[in-house]
Amino acid sequence: MSTVWSEGGATMAATTLGFIGLGNMGRPMAARLLAAGHPVVGFDRAGTAERLPAGARAARSATEVAEAAEVVFLSLPDGAASQAVCAEIAAAPARRTHTVIDLSTIGLVAARACAASLAAAGLRYVDAPVSGGVRGAEQGTLTVMVGAPAELFAAVEPWLAVLGRHCVRVGDAPGQGQAMKLLNNYLSAMALAATSEAVAFGACCGLDPALVIDVLNVSTGRTSASADKFPRCILPGTYDYGFAGALMAKDIQLYFEAASDVDAPRGLAARLHQLWQRFRAAHPDADCTYIAAYIAADVP
Ligand code: NAD
Repeated sequence: MSTVWSEGGATMAATTLGFIGLGNMGRPMAARLLAAGHPVVGFDRAGTAERLPAGARAARSATEVAEAAEVVFLSLPDGAASQAVCAEIAAAPARRTHTVIDLSTIGLVAARACAASLAAAGLRYVDAPVSGGVRGAEQGTLTVMVGAPAELFAAVEPWLAVLGRHCVRVGDAPGQGQAMKLLNNYLSAMALAATSEAVAFGACCGLDPALVIDVLNVSTGRTSASADKFPRCILPGTYDYGFAGALMAKDIQLYFEAASDVDAPRGLAARLHQLWQRFRAAHPDADCTYIAAYIAADVP
């Protein structure tokens, strides 16, 4: 513990926080924690110095983060990365970390595995994936979906409140935050794909795509894609939402696998899963919003 900080009127001791994974989401989230008065120690394996927010301290490995920080946040691309980093934190020789808060979207199986490997070493794991994109990460308006016991949620909520406007405990168990996040992204990816197909249909009928989006946004067909992704990233042709298509394809794959595991209805999910896999294979480095161009060109 070090200095004292104040959030929403409450005063609490500032804790040294670790942040591993300083990409599109991690960097702005780490910057917010720093701005809230916490010492932050960061690490990204693709290069920490160029991603680290000003004022944070660079570590050379996850082990170094674990030796410096009591609480460590993860914002990593997938379950393999979270599991590897959790194992490294658990094995750190002079470890200070007692709690790992995983903000990544990694699926139910990986979240349970992370929780189990950390518990075996006496650490707590908070399954806490987020929604709201890079903008939400910058502005602290994310939704944080937590699968953790009430007492653990209460212990970490003040930090989550720095990142999210809505921090909701959706269940007791690790993996339940992931379930909520995956079903959200299933709907978000479906909305993006369906809106793209509908706008392409309009264009084939001679309608102006910008006008189509304007009318949708005051009609019952409004989606998260028509409200934000189309006006900001698709109609201008910038395709710079900040969420990789490959990561969205990963999320839909995780959703489809999880739905199969629990034998949930998944007929529409199967079609969506195929579409996003094809898109990822064709455009492995594209932003998720580029699927609108892919769908527009994909006339059977
Ligand atoms: P990103 O690819 O921009 O960032 C991930 C970072 O993790 C990269 O900088 C990478 O170098 C680093 N990394 C990977 N393996 C590592 C390891 N073993 N040790 C240290 N660093 C490692 O991805 P992102 O868009 O910031 O997304 C991060 C997570 O948040 C993903 O799980 C994603 O699904 C989720 N998410 C993203 C968005 C979005 O809009 N971008 C929104 C909500 C949730």
